[in-house]
Amino acid sequence: MKTELIPVNQENIDISVMARAGELIRRGGLVAFPTETVYGLGGNGLNPHSSKAIYAAKGRPSDNPLILHIADRNELYSLVSEISETAEKLMDAFWPGPMTLVFPKSELVPTETTGGLDTVAVRMPRHPIALELIRMAGVPIAAPSANTSGRPSPTRASHVWEDMEGRIEMILDGGEVGIGLESTIIDLTGGIPTILRPGYITQSMIEEVIGHIEVDKASTGENSEHLRPKAPGMKYRHYAPRAEMTLVSGEHTKVCERILALALEQRNRGNKVRIICTEESRSCFSEFDAVSAGFRSHPEMIAHNLFRLLREADLDEVDVLLSETFEETELGNSVMNRLMKAAGYHIIRV
Ligand code: AMP
Ligand code: MG
Repeated sequence: MKTELIPVNQENIDISVMARAGELIRRGGLVAFPTETVYGLGGNGLNPHSSKAIYAAKGRPSDNPLILHIADRNELYSLVSEISETAEKLMDAFWPGPMTLVFPKSELVPTETTGGLDTVAVRMPRHPIALELIRMAGVPIAAPSANTSGRPSPTRASHVWEDMEGRIEMILDGGEVGIGLESTIIDLTGGIPTILRPGYITQSMIEEVIGHIEVDKASTGENSEHLRPKAPGMKYRHYAPRAEMTLVSGEHTKVCERILALALEQRNRGNKVRIICTEESRSCFSEFDAVSAGFRSHPEMIAHNLFRLLREADLDEVDVLLSETFEETELGNSVMNRLMKAAGYHIIRV
């Protein structure tokens, strides 16, 4: 299949391009598109064949459900069988935006889209191109991140091209995305609302709106081998670069020392080593190939850069990646969730 790569400008959207992309989706084709979180791989969420095509293009296990994207809250009513007051409050506060809500599904949603579950995850993105594409398609768009299963999520169209060229009909290139981490997922089908995947919208932001919520232990990776994640996708290896990746956490001076020692050891073994550091620690690593994820005090910057840095390590054929860790509060917690998965939970505490 030939993949078309089409530039789109969110400030001046070419409606004829969007109409063609929407038509492709409605007819069962796949179109990758920018959202405010990461690039999505979109198909008709009501067509089981489209969902199967998404799983095939990504090489994703078919028990890992897809998120449905809508452009208007009215579209929700046909997709779900129940909308609680809590859900209404969350939607009022955070939609459109990087928050996915899990509801009991209606008959209309095929089980191929939900990985066999009787629940469905729904999000209303904020990105103008995503919204226009959904409107033009005239159907909810099922869209996981537009990466090959297991690889870091794409934050630029070139990342999507690396993974999806020849596998999907079209990529809409809307430039670099803003947030860089996937949406926060909240399960509303049990008793207390539960965060299944941390994201840009943090626990405390949510608790300000609806009071106490829980965090699925399996989503944090703690003892995750003993727990059955409620978001089935969380059990798979994720975001992994090809390099062997190790995180070092602890007091800053000790972290620098340990990373330097490991880098030297690996370099002496003939490995190509790269260090992911912060602006604050950059000078410590001047003798090595060190890339900064941003300022430690600005987790938004680190979230924005993380997946790109992991992909660049692959492009540059790095063998060993050593990374600092980041403070696990608020957004930093979501960054660490992705980083821990990328490193296969390989962390040294000093
Ligand atoms: P991605 O599409 O790559 O952002 O991944 C979607 C995530 O949403 C995966 O971790 C899925 O397991 C999770 N998800 C999608 N639908 C559901 C659902 N009905 N219940 C729980 N988690 C879901
Ligand atoms: Mg993904």
